[in-house]
Amino acid sequence: MLTMNSFNFAGHRAIIRVDFNVPLNSSFEITDDTRIRAAIPTIKKILKDGGSVILMSHLGRPKEGPTDKYSLKHLIPDLNAKLGLSVKFAPDCIGEEAKSMAAALKPGEVLLLENLRFHKEEEKGDTEFAKKLAGLADIYVNDAFGTAHRAHASTTIIADYFKGKSMFGYIMDNEVRSIDKVMLDPKQPFTAILGGAKVSTKITIIENLLDKVDNLIIGGGMTYTFVKAMGGKVGNSLVEEDLLEMSKKVMNIAHEKGVNFYLPIDGVNADKFDNEAKILVSPIDQVPDGWMGLDIAAGTIKKFSEVIEGSKTILWNGPMGVFEMPNFQNGTVEIAKAIARATAKGAFSLVGGGDSVAALNQFNMTDKVSYVSTGGGALLEYIEGQVLPGIKAIRGY
Ligand code: AMP
Repeated sequence: MLTMNSFNFAGHRAIIRVDFNVPLNSSFEITDDTRIRAAIPTIKKILKDGGSVILMSHLGRPKEGPTDKYSLKHLIPDLNAKLGLSVKFAPDCIGEEAKSMAAALKPGEVLLLENLRFHKEEEKGDTEFAKKLAGLADIYVNDAFGTAHRAHASTTIIADYFKGKSMFGYIMDNEVRSIDKVMLDPKQPFTAILGGAKVSTKITIIENLLDKVDNLIIGGGMTYTFVKAMGGKVGNSLVEEDLLEMSKKVMNIAHEKGVNFYLPIDGVNADKFDNEAKILVSPIDQVPDGWMGLDIAAGTIKKFSEVIEGSKTILWNGPMGVFEMPNFQNGTVEIAKAIARATAKGAFSLVGGGDSVAALNQFNMTDKVSYVSTGGGALLEYIEGQVLPGIKAIRGY
């Protein structure tokens, strides 16, 4: 498999699938440029070698074909500033104009294609459309981990036209390497910490992790489905009644496989779902009627922190409580701190999934863990044990 560092792009025209799906305000200014910043090293390496670059991405979810609101042209000033050059723009990602602009590219030049999703063939994974995109370049680089779980034309199908001439960009390579380190080759003890609202969205992940981890820590809203399944009193806490049996089964499987399954032992309860609610701490299985558990409490934080600090590999997805409300964020903050301490002692920690990443950002702690994954849905499908089409298209598995 080709790699960014071992390949010399001199004289080559590379088409890169980037993830430039950035938020724009009503004046079409970028409000968070993280994704663009992340893609710059891949682009610069190709230009520095003496290659030229064609950038393709989606932006938003245009339903009606070309729409000004979703035009990638809004990104040009930012890209020009970051790359220190004048990016060319093709007003359609396929067609004669894109073709002639691509053909005219000189070494060191960059062409940005208009939003791929202005053509419905993109999301359908249409082969003719993929072939037209492929015709613009002689090398394909996929650097869009966030869409790696979609078999779209530009993320997957296009690779068929670049046999032996495709590779991961730096972002993608970093993501795959970091997740594989955790999922395929973890140093033990390996601890997974799962939180968030619901068991239903995490059940496949839990099942897959039971074959790999030494410790499985559960927090957040999904705690209470497990607690109720064991006969505990959960008051008005979030419970998925249809998953009570499944939760019991999961705990039995954990036991059979010798996985330490940790549920919170105490919780911070509120009399309503509100930051200003009255607060009452109780054992996790004794939430009084009329109260709901919204965070983990001191005993749990102590226990979980001990397990985390004794780990060599850590995977964290999902907050320990309603961290968006200041009065119920302590558990999530303290768990993040324990992960940071374990990391400082040499553990490898991977944090991913929208809300845990948002929590780390909120607490200014992103640089205290080993790796923060950028791909929400893609990461979750990967740790569910699924093969991601965008990854398979390039490395074969
Ligand atoms: P998820 O998207 O499944 O990772 O869930 C994240 C959401 O779960 C966040 O918005 C949290 O506020 C919410 N959450 C965490 N703990 C609880 C809880 N005990 N009760 C209700 N919601 C919770």
